[in-house]
Amino acid sequence: MTSSTTHEFKTEARQLLDLMIHSVYSHKEIFLRELISNASDALDKLRFASLTNENLRKLTDDLHIRLSTDDKNRTLTIADNGIGMSRDEIINYIGTIAKSGTAEFSDMLKKAAEKKESAPELIGQFGVGFYSSFMVADKVELISRKAGETEAWLWSSNGEGSYTIAESSRENCGTTITLHLKPEDKDDEDFQDFTQEWVLRQVVKKYSDFVGYPIKMQVERTSIERDENGKPKEGAQEQTVIEDETLNSMKAIWLRPEKEVTEEEYREFYKHISHDWNSPLKWLSFKAEGTSNEFNALLFIPEKPGFDLFMPNSKRGINLYVKRVFIMNDCEDLIPDYLRFVKGVVDSENLSLNISREILQHDRQIQTIRKTVTRKVLDALKKMLADDREKYIAFWKQFGAVIKEGLFKEPGNSEKLFDCCLFQSTASSSDYYTMAEYLERMKPEQDKIFYLTGESREVIENSPHLEAFRDKGYEVLLLTDPVDEVWVQYCNEYKAKKIKSAARGALELGSEEERKKTTETLKQKEEEWKSLLELIQKKLDKHIKAVKLSGRMSTSAACLVSEEGEMTPHLEALLRASGKDVPQVKRTLELNPGHPLLSKMHELFARDNKNPRLEEYAELLFGQALLAEGGQLPDPAGFNRKVAELMAGAL
Ligand code: ADP
Repeated sequence: MTSSTTHEFKTEARQLLDLMIHSVYSHKEIFLRELISNASDALDKLRFASLTNENLRKLTDDLHIRLSTDDKNRTLTIADNGIGMSRDEIINYIGTIAKSGTAEFSDMLKKAAEKKESAPELIGQFGVGFYSSFMVADKVELISRKAGETEAWLWSSNGEGSYTIAESSRENCGTTITLHLKPEDKDDEDFQDFTQEWVLRQVVKKYSDFVGYPIKMQVERTSIERDENGKPKEGAQEQTVIEDETLNSMKAIWLRPEKEVTEEEYREFYKHISHDWNSPLKWLSFKAEGTSNEFNALLFIPEKPGFDLFMPNSKRGINLYVKRVFIMNDCEDLIPDYLRFVKGVVDSENLSLNISREILQHDRQIQTIRKTVTRKVLDALKKMLADDREKYIAFWKQFGAVIKEGLFKEPGNSEKLFDCCLFQSTASSSDYYTMAEYLERMKPEQDKIFYLTGESREVIENSPHLEAFRDKGYEVLLLTDPVDEVWVQYCNEYKAKKIKSAARGALELGSEEERKKTTETLKQKEEEWKSLLELIQKKLDKHIKAVKLSGRMSTSAACLVSEEGEMTPHLEALLRASGKDVPQVKRTLELNPGHPLLSKMHELFARDNKNPRLEEYAELLFGQALLAEGGQLPDPAGFNRKVAELMAGAL
């Protein structure tokens, strides 16, 4: 037998443990919910693995969780005969936290400390349930044997800096966790003694009643022999017997009529399946009937996103059951990616128990379930928006960017999605609006929906591109999420109205007649200023595609405009930031003929067309146009020097 080895906890794990040990959280009992959840997951995993592995099948006859206590030594043990863990898995899963999110976690710890936020909320988002045992225990031992292997490992720690791992033994596969409970704290009004049967019974009932495996415990009963009327038999002695009792009802909560389930039960079920410590924002329970595809579903919309919402390998999807038998968790095929924050259960009456992850994707029934689930969730969101806008806006701020992914992943469903989407716009400084509300406010002659994308509201609100829209009283949607740059390329229509960028292509504002007039005036002016424009083009040739006069601005002198279908500079910047090699797209420099700077330039040109000032001004105009849209100057130092010279000259 190899001797034990000692390992240091990773920094984040240590910080977290420190929080746990010193936590003043009053509901310490939830550690049991976390450990039971983990045990239940381990049983699920073994059952799932046994579907495709003949050898594991015999291990699944009596899947259960067992609690046992020793009040003299003050220990509580939680054991399962599930999938178990290998030595490496113990090190990876138990010795580290939030495998992919440690940096985020550190960050949040810091922020929480600044805001004096409570630890539990924070912890919940990281799914670090196991460590919550240190709220009640000063030493935790875990023995695990992986299904299919013979060796077992003992992990042990007092939660302070390090843990040890040693070879051990275990009769069957599974995990046993022994908590050495802290002594009673007389000052703690909420102290609960977890070696007491009634305490455990209560906590299990409250948090884990619906767990699909029996949670067993040996309980002491006094019994006496009785006659057929139920009366104690004459001379019979009271006897103490020890018997196994199942503490949970195991009732599938998703099959129970909604009015029979309490809100508390729904909340606890959500926490069980999601590993989120916060309550859900909303839940929906429904049954889809049909001869060949019947299923029940219970779905939850979280209030707060998990830290991994935008990580490529985040957990996503819904748990799949077939006729009450757990098949798999995180079943991605049951819900589109843009609703990946939805948690819950789908229980099908018709699917085969042997369905595997590989064939799910192509299964017709799964596709139908997915459609129904999607529709139900979108309907629920739409209803929430109609019934409680404030709540919906709070939800939208957290999850809107994910939902908008649907606009390009499923453009065919965009009308329905738009009903749940909110946007900020020039109509107010902070409110959010739906597309339908935008349509209602459109000017009679306005035939398009306009938007502008950019890094932040401040930047785009001051963009010269908005000037003409403001003058005309046209509302413009202000889109600042990176995902906006993408969906606008796929969804260019809503209710037969084109959705168009305010910074791209020709400007089409006002009535037919007005547009014609503007075009003619500009054409005349361009003819008149032709040589000046040529000079500017020549000077800026390596930066711009063309130069022209336009009616886009009222106060600014210049702006840059992309062609229809071309990348916006914001998208270019986003792609570059993500390491993509994107070619620089040349744009058109549009000039405002009504601006005094340009008429002065033209006067100077008419007097002295070789004047070096003209070229300098051309460069400055280009620089200004870039700055106005929040862009980067190609030569900031040169730009500065020219401005300084000009300023000096003007004094
Ligand atoms: P979470 O359960 O949210 O992932 P935990 O810290 O509670 O976080 O557990 C970390 C991981 O350790 C689990 O995801 C699982 O892989 C493993 N684990 C925990 N408890 C058990 C158990 N009883 N049996 C098998 N694996 C377990």
